[in-house]
Amino acid sequence: MLEGLSGMFIGHYSASFALKRLDSRVPIFLLMIGVQFMDFLFMVFILFGVERMEIVPGFTEVNAFVLSYMPYSHSLVAALFWSVVYGAACAFLIKKLGFVRALLICGAAVFSHYILDVLVHTPDMPILSGTGMKLGLGIWKNRIATIIVEGAFLSLAWFAYIRMSQPGPGAVGKYGASVFFGFLVALTVATPFMPVPKTIFELSAQALAGYVIIALLARWIDSKRIYVA
Ligand SMILES: [Zn+2]
Repeated sequence: MLEGLSGMFIGHYSASFALKRLDSRVPIFLLMIGVQFMDFLFMVFILFGVERMEIVPGFTEVNAFVLSYMPYSHSLVAALFWSVVYGAACAFLIKKLGFVRALLICGAAVFSHYILDVLVHTPDMPILSGTGMKLGLGIWKNRIATIIVEGAFLSLAWFAYIRMSQPGPGAVGKYGASVFFGFLVALTVATPFMPVPKTIFELSAQALAGYVIIALLARWIDSKRIYVA
């Protein structure tokens, strides 16, 4: 059980918290989904064979993913395209912000995924198609480096985010945010040690469920905070 969680890359959530800091009117739920939107697509695409990956134990210290074909979810051109699509969809939903501002902030959430993925992936991220130059600086090759980079991004962004609001009433208002942050840090440290998933389906299903659960938890915790405008 839980092998699929090795597909979670918690560091992406640092962008959600940093962007929430930029404008507190943007719902945290949309930012939490936004930063994982490219992986949402990938996890669905591999289920249907549109994109491909192989599970090779020991491929990097952090996970067993040989991401052999993912032009539709993870190329540079796709990242720009999905950023605009997701940003525009959010801009329609968030009426109070102004269309362009909402599009830019939610679009940036999606594009931040691309930038962080280039840092950690081995060179597997194409510019446009499945062939040609591929990007990836390969921090995943080192487990400790990965935990330090993810942990640092997450902590900095979290403290920027949490200082914007006050604890609300009740136990969740008082302690919820601290517990949630502790949970994210624990996941950051634990995911590089998760066992290798047995099947693509197990990886995909657990990762997708994980993204939704974490976004819902963030929405719940954030709703218990008091924002003074
Ligand atoms: Zn990704």
